[in-house]
Amino acid sequence: MNKLLPTSTAGSLPKPSWLAQPETLWSPWKLQGDELIEGKQDALRVVLNDQRQAGIDIVSDGEQTRQHFVTTFIENLSGVDFDKRETVRIRDRYDASVPTVVGTVSRQQPVFVEDAKFLRSQTEQPIKWALPGPMTMIDTLYDTHYKSREKLAWEFAKALNQEARELEAAGVDIIQFDEPAFNVFFDEVNDWGIAALEKAAEGLRCETAVHICYGYGIKANTDWKKTLGDEWRQYEQVFPKLQKSSIGMISLECQHSRVPMDLIELLRGKRVMVGAIDVATNAIETPEEVADILRKALQFVDADKLYPCTNCGMAPLSRQVARGKLAALSTGADIVRNEILAGGI
Ligand SMILES: [Zn+2]
Repeated sequence: MNKLLPTSTAGSLPKPSWLAQPETLWSPWKLQGDELIEGKQDALRVVLNDQRQAGIDIVSDGEQTRQHFVTTFIENLSGVDFDKRETVRIRDRYDASVPTVVGTVSRQQPVFVEDAKFLRSQTEQPIKWALPGPMTMIDTLYDTHYKSREKLAWEFAKALNQEARELEAAGVDIIQFDEPAFNVFFDEVNDWGIAALEKAAEGLRCETAVHICYGYGIKANTDWKKTLGDEWRQYEQVFPKLQKSSIGMISLECQHSRVPMDLIELLRGKRVMVGAIDVATNAIETPEEVADILRKALQFVDADKLYPCTNCGMAPLSRQVARGKLAALSTGADIVRNEILAGGI
């Protein structure tokens, strides 16, 4: 991108009420068959227009085509039995009933490639596509086949790489892997998590990104955040190795988080998507609040490597709130961009 401080979102945006129950995470579809396919495409057009109107520079499908950021991908793999369910603890935080890995996992067909082609056909702007990361994928399954988190992550990385290469060929400019699990399992991240992520991104010529956050604004996450103390230093555990990795961009949670901003210094040289919009509150940030976060980040990121973004996805918010937050992000970035161009920063 030639434009300074190009804006984007971390991923999901609210779905229209005719497609899925609003303000509900992982809400089931209201349509079926051909109507569902058409409904997803219509919703994609709507959120694309919302992003365009707000002045967002790098646009996405707002995850209108998927029900869950991990499960929808896994549904297209062999080796996972969705009827055989076990209760596991997700990211050491909450219990969930999850499918079981019963055999060799491999990608049976393209998952999001047609959707990405459709998005590409609708806009000339740079587009970003989110995929789950290998470590976050294994954390939402019960495994009776590989019996090794590392081995299973490696198999997922291979499947993700096949998908990522086809997304790149479909014209996606930035492929982002969502790895909230990187904020929890530090030893594993450093032992093999980053290697698995690099495997998923292997051979890509487009921009690659990893999104690491403190999650949606659901109760399990807000309760967990209360246990993390005054300073959230989780990123410190994984940034040094990520800085040395082949991944080009890192997407972080910064607005209203207790992450000390100077931790970003550990990523020096990388492009950083700085979360300047809190997704866990309905209060819409003022452009000045957004600008404030970006100015602080500029102490640790070169201006040409700073990408203003949201903390995480906005799927559980109302459409009106999400639109307000998109506009605040865009206007806040304008303020700081103008300051830089005027030589004030
Ligand atoms: Zn997130």
